[in-house]
Amino acid sequence: MPQGLIVKALSGYYYVLPEGSKLGQDDLVQCRARGVFKKRGISPLVGDSVKFELTENGEGTVTEIDKRSSEMIRPPIANVDTAMLVFSIVEPVLNLQLLDKFLVHIENTGLEAAICLTKADLINGTAETGSEADSGDDSPESLTAGKEDEAALLASMPEWLQEAIGLYRRIGYPVLLTSSRRAEGVEQVAEYLNGKISVFAGQSGVGKSSLLNAIVAGLDLQTNEISHRLGRGKHTTRHVELIPLVKGGYVADTPGFSQLDFVELEAEYLGSCFREFQPFAEKCKFRGCVHLHEPDCKVREASERGEIALTRYEHYLLFLNEMKEKKRRY
Ligand code: GDP
Ligand code: ZN
Repeated sequence: MPQGLIVKALSGYYYVLPEGSKLGQDDLVQCRARGVFKKRGISPLVGDSVKFELTENGEGTVTEIDKRSSEMIRPPIANVDTAMLVFSIVEPVLNLQLLDKFLVHIENTGLEAAICLTKADLINGTAETGSEADSGDDSPESLTAGKEDEAALLASMPEWLQEAIGLYRRIGYPVLLTSSRRAEGVEQVAEYLNGKISVFAGQSGVGKSSLLNAIVAGLDLQTNEISHRLGRGKHTTRHVELIPLVKGGYVADTPGFSQLDFVELEAEYLGSCFREFQPFAEKCKFRGCVHLHEPDCKVREASERGEIALTRYEHYLLFLNEMKEKKRRY
């Protein structure tokens, strides 16, 4: 039985890209799901690897869904490998508290996370002050951004930013620097996403659509200035679709999530979502230590010695508090 990947779901149809076939809408098989799924309360998801049968009318039926490695609810996508957390350096200014919140969410769902810092052109001194009219102005030499260029770019950045980048890299998260406007760092993003199913996540206005447009040849997602002009928001007609990347891999054309709630997370687990706490947390005196006022808390001690960054520990405490407040309200 043929095997394929569901790349789009719309009005009760699932669009399956048969295994081994090259991209292109023409290759998609429009399928219904087998009735039995409904009875069992299962529905196929975009990202599902499935078996399907061709029917007489040239359509198909999804007959089997392979085991999922992950399942996201909003947006509904199966088998996502990586969440690319997109944050602008400025406009809006990089919000480390929100970044940490996203990271907690990702760690909790068990996905891989990478951080992409956008709009680098607005900070490295030589930037034009981004009016829309400038947007087509990509200088040719910037198209070849490589390792040395990244080092130079990094060196030209303000100290707080260099420190933040260093911090997250030390923790173990890949940090990519991009400017969609100058087509800088975009290749590296495509390289990173190669072979994976990924979602982009981040606040509105940070440059997700621009970045997607830059890495997917021929894609023309609406970016903010256009949608404002038309007087309607982006991503309103939402069905989820996976876009194939030239080098391999797929990226969802819709933002992963932009707001997070801690309702499902238990206070005791919050600490485990801060990766660099782990070696210390294992040595805390009390099991279930929430690293607050407990005696002999190795996490708190490490933050006092600066072995855990103070901002990370402070955000941890803030989230812990937020979770307690929420509990009280529910
Ligand atoms: P989204 O809401 O996250 O999808 O963000 P958009 O891609 O719509 O971008 C929001 C605004 O930021 C638009 O006005 C873009 O032109 C601008 N923008 C996006 N990427 C860059 C960049 O690399 N440099 C500069 N200067 N502006 C950018
Ligand atoms: Zn502790």
